[in-house]
Amino acid sequence: MTVSSYNPADPDDLVVAVEAPGAEAVRAAVGRARAAQPGWLGAGAGARSAALGRIAEAVEANAEELAALIVREVGKPLAEARGEVARTAAIWRYYAQAPYEPSGAVHETAAGPGLLLTRRRPYGVAGLIAPWNFPLAIPSWKAAPALAVGNTAVLKPAPEATACALRLAELAGLPADVFTVLPGGAEEGAALVDAADVVSFTGSTGVGRAVVRAATGRGVPVQAELGGLNAALVLPDADIESAAAHIAAAVAGYAGQKCTATSRVIAVGAAHEPLREALVKALAAVDDAVCGPVISAAARDRVTEAVSSAVAAGASVLTGGRVPERTGWYLEPTLLADVPAEHPLAREEFFGPVAVLHAAADLDEAIALANDTPHSLATSVHTRSLDVALAAADRLDAGMIRVNAPSSGVDFHLPFGGTKGASHGDREQGRAALDFYTVSRTVSVLPGGGA
Ligand code: NAD
Repeated sequence: MTVSSYNPADPDDLVVAVEAPGAEAVRAAVGRARAAQPGWLGAGAGARSAALGRIAEAVEANAEELAALIVREVGKPLAEARGEVARTAAIWRYYAQAPYEPSGAVHETAAGPGLLLTRRRPYGVAGLIAPWNFPLAIPSWKAAPALAVGNTAVLKPAPEATACALRLAELAGLPADVFTVLPGGAEEGAALVDAADVVSFTGSTGVGRAVVRAATGRGVPVQAELGGLNAALVLPDADIESAAAHIAAAVAGYAGQKCTATSRVIAVGAAHEPLREALVKALAAVDDAVCGPVISAAARDRVTEAVSSAVAAGASVLTGGRVPERTGWYLEPTLLADVPAEHPLAREEFFGPVAVLHAAADLDEAIALANDTPHSLATSVHTRSLDVALAAADRLDAGMIRVNAPSSGVDFHLPFGGTKGASHGDREQGRAALDFYTVSRTVSVLPGGGA
């Protein structure tokens, strides 16, 4: 099978085509990574820290080339692509300090002399499976902490982001078999889950559930970050213009292809009319510099078909809804109202620049509506009231709660993940990632006697 990726803004532009290596090659790569792991761990904190720091420098030194590759391979608007490259360098630099972090604690013995210690140790080979939408940042926020604590890593990128991942491994320049990128699809991904010692997955809910089952069945630790269906709550006391600008960015930025994108807008009470007006205006003003194409013709058609079926079921299109006549897989940023509660547009992630506007009588109804989804990753709340912000932080069932900010937005130095079906296992990013890629051992050191 050939793995190929095409430019979403110009589908005739083939970015890369490589032969998928097959399951046996994955097993062999994991075997080589396992053999390389003791040397990588044994090289010590200083060597690992220096190596990760050099990756940050290499990413920075090639920033413009990498940003252009992201634009070409996954259709990300240039400003966001530059932002992703800068974040990628920052991730490697942040985790370059991690090898020096304390790896355990000292405890008192219950009685008598001695030392009781905990010490975190790497598992061996980290199997990393990534989606295409953050083609450098997601592989990096998985690989950097895994490598920092002394695992070796094998990454299976999404087919649509193959060129970015291969370039990252090349720039990383780590010793042989310490960080391997193996292109491929489901076969290679499944083989990696069957062979690795710890598994980190980001992608769609269906695939993620299968990965969790397979890894759990083998008894290896697994984390999975999956799809979201994220809401934005707007209270009548909010700065409506600013809320509309944030929400338009979260709905249409990168064509809605962020797991933290907003797809449900919940206007509370008197906020409804002014928000509807401001949001329609803000979405209609979104241009290519913000939105860009979606990843494939199939992704575009899935959205347009859902919009048509929602309209047939009584929904109204407040703005957008059409496919512009131009080359590339573009879609107009779209806002709908009166979408029936059970319609897929109100229940499922579409990963396109499309959102549904709902009205809620009060905060309680808005929170109930926001929580009525199995996939809560990020929810934004727009208000000037501290009481509302605190109530939302207490009662919203989401992994990330963002007050007066777009739902899309991630700080790599804090734990990241969702609630309910949006996540499985430990958090990614921040210090939480260092715990995920290590297991704690308890060491008792007692006197040998005689001295
Ligand atoms: P996807 O699930 O189609 O693919 C993800 C990865 O899994 C790819 O590398 C793919 O090749 C691999 N894969 C496919 N079948 C597999 C199998 N049977 N076993 C093992 N691996 C397999 O997702 P995608 O289209 O690349 O990415 C978009 C999805 O990712 C969206 O649902 C989005 O919400 C989600 N996402 C989530 C987060 C998060 O942190 N929660 C971040 C970014 C994207």
